[in-house]
Amino acid sequence: MSLPVVGFVGWRGMVGSVLLERMLAEKDFDLIEPIFFSTSNSGAKVPSFAGHRISKNEEVLQDAHQIDALKKCDYIISTQGGDYTNAIFGPLRASGWSGHWIDAASSLRMDSQAKIVLDPVNRPVIDQAIAHNNLNWIGGNCTVSLMLMGLNGLFNAGLVEWVSAMTYQAASGAGAQNMRELLSQMGYLYQHVQGDLADSGAAILDIDRRVTEALNSDNYPKSNFRNTPLAGSLIPWIDVPVAHGQTKEEWKGGAECNKILGLPPFREAGSIPIDGICVRVGSMRCHSQGLTIKLKKHVAIEEIEQLLTNANDWVNVVPNDRELTEKHLTPAAVTGTLQIPIGRIHHLAMGPEYIGAFTVGDQLLWGAAEPLRRILRILLEA
Ligand code: NAP
Repeated sequence: MSLPVVGFVGWRGMVGSVLLERMLAEKDFDLIEPIFFSTSNSGAKVPSFAGHRISKNEEVLQDAHQIDALKKCDYIISTQGGDYTNAIFGPLRASGWSGHWIDAASSLRMDSQAKIVLDPVNRPVIDQAIAHNNLNWIGGNCTVSLMLMGLNGLFNAGLVEWVSAMTYQAASGAGAQNMRELLSQMGYLYQHVQGDLADSGAAILDIDRRVTEALNSDNYPKSNFRNTPLAGSLIPWIDVPVAHGQTKEEWKGGAECNKILGLPPFREAGSIPIDGICVRVGSMRCHSQGLTIKLKKHVAIEEIEQLLTNANDWVNVVPNDRELTEKHLTPAAVTGTLQIPIGRIHHLAMGPEYIGAFTVGDQLLWGAAEPLRRILRILLEA
């Protein structure tokens, strides 16, 4: 029996590489016949991945702009980016292609013909869409998916009146070049004070003055972050401005969360208000979020922790304890794993219905690649 043909576009990018890594680990390639596409290098030999030769028939990279080549696929997974989706998706559908389109880019997320996928949270929405022959499956914004994985239990229980998320987002969300730039910035700062640090008698205010000079110098490497220093600082603005004083990243919180949960559109009656300020910080690939949650009623902390813990296989509650928080609730502890720890859970001074919490997640795994890998598997098994 022939296997379903799955086309991969964007597989050598950051999200694409993590996706292939996960698919190899879960043996997803046993179930499919993959075809690899490229926007820049068609005709070249398909490389092996971590020593695995996973291409079965098409030995050379196909041209990702050739509609006829794409039409051979039963499924296409694009992790190439929004420009590619905007250029190819319309003409591909117009050509009569009726396969499944699975995409990491945001272009189609709010399209009425597309579902945002995060199956541990919205499997009923996905199942209903499969029953209605939906063909377009889009991964959510990384911060949105990570917050919903963490707060899954409270949303499931219908307890959430609103959420304010103050985010601490990693450099990886801005791309591979930005991760490299963050490290260059760290090195640049260190080089500026290396001599003083070796001298235990050097005055800290002199060291600090030199760091500030370096941060504001024209030579500080910051072109990828729009000429704004990140290491040694932070940037309280992510993506373009939209209405209501929000950035697009902040708007996605409300717009995508409500769509994922199958609720009315953000800011309409029946939707859940979700808003906050999104901040870029100098961590590598984990996004963190400080959450203020207004519940519909007072709920005991033990019950909240129980609801959160039982919601899915990846969330785990970190007790509100200093040592455990320092050990388990940081980007350094979570990076490269599928774990979604949530901690610092306590009632806030504002009133008995107000809860504070903090959550961390790897934005390339549950934030990007894993929901795509899982929707492919769900569709293959449907
Ligand atoms: P990326 O790393 O920039 O890769 C995108 C494409 O750039 C690659 O597929 C590759 O295409 C090309 N490319 C050019 N030079 C490259 C190089 N030196 N190394 C690797 N690839 C290179 O993009 P991404 O961060 O994976 O994001 C892809 C999409 O996912 C975007 O729409 C993004 O918004 C979305 N997304 C990203 C994240 C995230 O955390 N980064 C999270 C959620 C969603 P060719 O092989 O065809 O040349």
